Amino acid sequence: MANRLQTKEAVAHSLALSGRERAALASPHRWRMPLAITPYYAALLELEPPDGPLRRTVLPDEREGTHGAGEQMDPLGEEAHQATAHVVRSYPHKALLLVTTECACFCRYCTRARRARRGTPTDLAPALAFLRAESGIQDVLISGGDPLVLGNEVLGDLLQQLRDIPHVDFLRLGSKVPAVLPQRITHELPRLFKRFRPLWISTHFTHPMELTPPVAKACARLSEAGIPLMNQTVLLRGINDTAETLRELNEGLLRIGVKPYYLHQGDMAAGTAHLRSSIRRGRCILKALCGNTTGYAIPHFMLDQPGGGGKIPL
Ligand SMILES: *Cc1c(COP(=O)(O)O)cnc(C)c1O
Repeated sequence: MANRLQTKEAVAHSLALSGRERAALASPHRWRMPLAITPYYAALLELEPPDGPLRRTVLPDEREGTHGAGEQMDPLGEEAHQATAHVVRSYPHKALLLVTTECACFCRYCTRARRARRGTPTDLAPALAFLRAESGIQDVLISGGDPLVLGNEVLGDLLQQLRDIPHVDFLRLGSKVPAVLPQRITHELPRLFKRFRPLWISTHFTHPMELTPPVAKACARLSEAGIPLMNQTVLLRGINDTAETLRELNEGLLRIGVKPYYLHQGDMAAGTAHLRSSIRRGRCILKALCGNTTGYAIPHFMLDQPGGGGKIPL
């Protein structure tokens, strides 16, 4: 990912910026996490006006440096529920396996900004030993970071080790790669995934602008390999928090074979108040969608409770 945009100079060189965007890029000490944008996604940002919705999801904002009331570095209490290195267990039968700290693109509203780093390797041996020993764990969510930044060989080896655990029935991969680097979904990758079914992918699409022809092709390849695709969206203020935008997104996802699964209320991650919409607004949107679109296009609106109480439907 050498040609990613990861410096303010690279971004300023590629995009016409607003004064606000330029000011935020000039103050990296106020950023809540590193900057990284794939060239593919930067080309989408170029189609938007300055301050456009996709830009706001990946370009830093000066308000990131402000910690609002009730905000936390670890809003979901994941450190408290860390069962062993790189494993979060908030439910008895499910485990979240954090396989890398790296992503193709860093989302500014990330709930795990505290862990986001470029290019640091993760030793998963103790985590795999833990999952083998805990016979109550039936469902493993492979997340990070973004697991699809790992090479095919590393991914294949990891999936094989998880498949070899008799009590693990369900494997899920959480990834924004189909949205920000659809070229990663080569012919080879779905072939590899096919060997480890039942394997599910939770995608992360945020806005209808992301549903491009290369994305449709990437999703089709995964579906053709028998990998069901479920989407998670974060409700983001001024970006996707209208019924029209979410209807267009969710119907567009269905058209490319992706089921809208969760719409997440933005959590209390430090420095994200400017991106967080409200529960009230989210409920109004859900109400407006119900009955006005196919039922398959309606996700569950979820709140991940502060401190690690788990997810509750709103
Ligand atoms: C969200 C989450 C899961 C998975 O929840 P589902 O509702 O089954 O999708 C598992 N573990 C943790 C820690 C989570 O945050």
